[in-house]
Amino acid sequence: MRAYLDHAASTPLLDCAREAMLPVLGHAANASSLHTAGRAARRRVEEARESVAESLGVAPSEVLFTSGGTESDNLAIKGLWWARKAQDSRRARVLASRVEHHAVLDPVLWLGEHEGAEVVWLDVDASGRIEVEQLRDELADHADGIALATVMWANNEVGTVQPIEQVAAACAEAGVPLHVDAVQALGSIPVDAAAPTTLAISAHKLGGPMGVGALVARRGAPLVPLTHGGGQERQVRSGTVDVPGVVGLAAALSHVMADLPQRAERLGELRDGLVAGLLDIAPDARLHGPRGGAEVRLPGNAHFSFPGCEGDALLMLLDAAGVDVSTGSACTAGVPEPSHVLLAMGIDPVLARSSLRFSLGHTSTRADVDALLAALPPALERARRAGQVRISSRLAAAARGIP
Ligand code: PLP
Repeated sequence: MRAYLDHAASTPLLDCAREAMLPVLGHAANASSLHTAGRAARRRVEEARESVAESLGVAPSEVLFTSGGTESDNLAIKGLWWARKAQDSRRARVLASRVEHHAVLDPVLWLGEHEGAEVVWLDVDASGRIEVEQLRDELADHADGIALATVMWANNEVGTVQPIEQVAAACAEAGVPLHVDAVQALGSIPVDAAAPTTLAISAHKLGGPMGVGALVARRGAPLVPLTHGGGQERQVRSGTVDVPGVVGLAAALSHVMADLPQRAERLGELRDGLVAGLLDIAPDARLHGPRGGAEVRLPGNAHFSFPGCEGDALLMLLDAAGVDVSTGSACTAGVPEPSHVLLAMGIDPVLARSSLRFSLGHTSTRADVDALLAALPPALERARRAGQVRISSRLAAAARGIP
């Protein structure tokens, strides 16, 4: 049996979601068709919308189904930008935290490159938490010139929970729309979906199917569509709705919301056991992100750097030993890049490249943690030896003038 410690990347489908989807998978009808089968599919979509809205405490008309977190983030960021610019051309600024997921970071950078957006990056402290004062100062000094602000609810790499209540209150007071990426937070910690202007969610992070998500867009949220076509979702998102997918999303979401506190407590205890056991084995490992309860850190998240190792080498060694984990960093053309999140937290780039994320979820047990703790000592030893070889060959190459 493999130990799966990568629930933040994707968590297994919940039984309730599978059961809800199975009878729908065999139906071919398009929810926009007018015949009986089409109307039955439409009914399923609208029931799923009502269920998602109820789980989130918003109105059904505020739930737009999408193909997942990435699409929801793109629709919110670009859609709000175009709509706000069209209302007032002076609105050239976009405020964004430095630790956003690439699904937010890249559309923000794209707006900077292609649309002339002036991006203002919101700094974070050593635990990855934004400084709300910087946001308040920006809002006070430039409220008329800001198109939108975007701050994630919880970070996918280090699990830091942001002070969204304060962020939302400050943006609302200044009349600036706020987008929140709640992809990692939803299902792990309490989320007030009604606080921001738009909120992105993804089904496969909470036990629903892959390739489905939603954007919660509050009434009156100014959004220009990204995709044009049938206008299925309030004329804002075109494309045939994935009927089994949204049924699965609704079932998974209502399940995870029902036992949120109990699951957070169970995962928090399991994670604390992982952290303590890991530090016993590797006392020089550095835990990144905040220490504390679910109000400051996602309960299933642990993130460490292992000095002297390359994170990707350690990942492959653990993989060979039957343990699935993740590095936080993206690989650009085969070259491991230090994570922008860790760099924003002031972590040294070499140390940042030695990091691994362990993330727990609904199927996680103590046996998974034990499997990691058993596989880690030999993996660490080999990764350290490999790290030393790499460092000494780099030094030898440098001495010979080879870059
Ligand atoms: N936002 C965050 C914080 C994420 O962790 C992810 C996925 O890892 C996404 C957005 C993208 O979601 P999806 O995989 O549904 O496109």
